[in-house]
Amino acid sequence: MSHKSALVTGITGQDGSFLAELLLERDYRVTGVIRPRAAPSLGSSEHLRGRIELIEGDLLEPDSLRQAVAVARPDELYHLAAPSFVPDSWCRPAETVAAIAVATAALLEAVRDRSERTRVFVAGSGAMFGTAPDSPQHEGTPCRPESPYATAKLAAHQLVGQLRAHDGLFACSGILYNHESERRPESFVARKIARAAAAIKLGLAQEVELGDLTVVRDWSFAGDIMQGAWLALRQDQPDDYIFASGTGRTVAELAAVAFGHLGLDAQDHIRVDPNLVRQPEATPRIGDPRRARERLGWRPGLSFDELVRRMVDADMRALGGLTSAPPH
Ligand code: NDP
Repeated sequence: MSHKSALVTGITGQDGSFLAELLLERDYRVTGVIRPRAAPSLGSSEHLRGRIELIEGDLLEPDSLRQAVAVARPDELYHLAAPSFVPDSWCRPAETVAAIAVATAALLEAVRDRSERTRVFVAGSGAMFGTAPDSPQHEGTPCRPESPYATAKLAAHQLVGQLRAHDGLFACSGILYNHESERRPESFVARKIARAAAAIKLGLAQEVELGDLTVVRDWSFAGDIMQGAWLALRQDQPDDYIFASGTGRTVAELAAVAFGHLGLDAQDHIRVDPNLVRQPEATPRIGDPRRARERLGWRPGLSFDELVRRMVDADMRALGGLTSAPPH
């Protein structure tokens, strides 16, 4: 029986691990692109070691990406890798543009020149809309990116559309809004809150320091977003899709669900640190997922509350406070 093959950049990250699980369940041969290292860790995909093949590649070495595509010649390429922590992009704007925009161009070019039947999904970001006038944003909303990360993601998104139109590539850009899981690093606020709630419940911490509690985000479960990526490549025609819940929630709401799940009152345990408060956003970052819903039949499997509770339970388990089996 011939299996479909997929090449996944960013396989060590949150999304890469959920996507790899999804593809393996569907009998794909999965190859992950990992950075060359003496003792490579598979990060969030460590539990899949032995079930996935590996190929070396670095976003900052475009030739290594071209080579990975030429060697793998996969049926599907999921380009998920990126320096994903937006504040870091202010420290390294040139590297951010190279790692996101130049790397995406190199991958698309390699597909065009060396593996033209490969279908491509590129992970974009709703951050590219920046101070756009609309909220929720849709695929046609004008972009006004506000960080080097967002500018680089916009360039990558446009390159997908350009090579699709000019060279006939089957390439899709997924415009992704915040998506989370227990595999998200604690530098991201949702995971920071989940971890803190668990630690406080278990008496391992007293409080958590957060920034602006009124900031609005559109949160989804990472596994659901990867389901959308897979669906995008199942269509007759390639297109761009927003993957988001369509509902904005504040950081305070997320904290209330997380602490409330453990019978705690978030307000008793949160301290606002003015150093963590960023400039307020003019436009709430909320995505309109109608196109994905209507054309792909995409539906989030986990609600906001279920997602937050899943993350808190995982942190309770990790800190030794729960013994029940994790969800699949
Ligand atoms: P993670 O930070 O969990 O994973 C990032 C991945 O990129 C890791 O596998 C990392 O590898 C890899 N990577 C980073 N730099 C390089 C490099 N120079 N060369 C090779 N690989 C590199 O991100 P997520 O899984 O959360 O996000 C996946 C994609 O979705 C990203 O493109 C992100 O920008 C985008 N996105 C994510 C959102 C979210 O809420 N999660 C929202 C909007 C967009 P290593 O382990 O070696 O560091």
